[in-house]
Amino acid sequence: MVEQASSLTGASVSACSESAGGALAQPTAHSVSSVGHAVTPGPILLLGAPGVGKGTQARELMRLWAIPQISTGDLLRANVSQGTELGLAAKEIMQCGNLVPDDLVNRMVAIRLAQPDTLNGFILDGFPRTLPQAHWLDAELAVRPGALPIVAVSLQVDYNLLLRRITGRRNCPVCQRIYNVFLQPPQRDGFCDVDGAALVQRADDTETCFQGRIGNYQSLTAPVIEHYRAQGRFAEVHGDREVAAVAAEVISAVERMRSGA
Ligand code: ADP
Repeated sequence: MVEQASSLTGASVSACSESAGGALAQPTAHSVSSVGHAVTPGPILLLGAPGVGKGTQARELMRLWAIPQISTGDLLRANVSQGTELGLAAKEIMQCGNLVPDDLVNRMVAIRLAQPDTLNGFILDGFPRTLPQAHWLDAELAVRPGALPIVAVSLQVDYNLLLRRITGRRNCPVCQRIYNVFLQPPQRDGFCDVDGAALVQRADDTETCFQGRIGNYQSLTAPVIEHYRAQGRFAEVHGDREVAAVAAEVISAVERMRSGA
């Protein structure tokens, strides 16, 4: 148990330091530095289907508010590449978008939430993804001293664009920059503009896996959206626009929900 917890922590901490580094970085040209400073962000959930842009928007919020992005997909992939006990258990399951058991993911999130950089808030991306995960998170935050209530933003993008975003996605394994062969190709086909590394495609970013991921999303994750809609402090934002335009709307929704309007 201790051994397993420490292996989880190992991966979490490495993903955490990456987040913390990003949190301290200067805003990008298209970021929204002129709004959103006034609030204490607290716990923010970014919800939505694979490919809606949760990770991209999480990075915008992280830069603005200097709070960490906690992506369970990234934490799990870090565990897989580090060969931790959790990574070994998760590897096969993640291959084509099936969900890792709730108790494993919940424990991983609990360890990450115990890091001090989450005190003013954090952005959860890819979690909760099932109703039991949502109930676990609600109970966890209810006993967290001084925690603000959750605010949830659901991003929406049409199915055909999701498919192009997912099947066209290519990642730089060195600088983590994300390209899209249809929508945002690199200058030299297959290679990163920044460092020249060969781009890679996630094993679950094929069309067949995408269908399965969308199926899981509809049956297991859509009820999570309804759960948070019913709690109030919930907003829907269309994600098929410029990153900065989507981010501006997400930020004003969070501000509005935090001010109780
Ligand atoms: P996407 O949202 O694009 O499907 P992620 O990077 O969020 O991709 O997740 C990749 C994979 O990691 C998922 O398909 C699933 O196998 C696993 N995973 C991520 N988050 C969770 C979670 N909260 N519960 C269970 N499995 C998860």
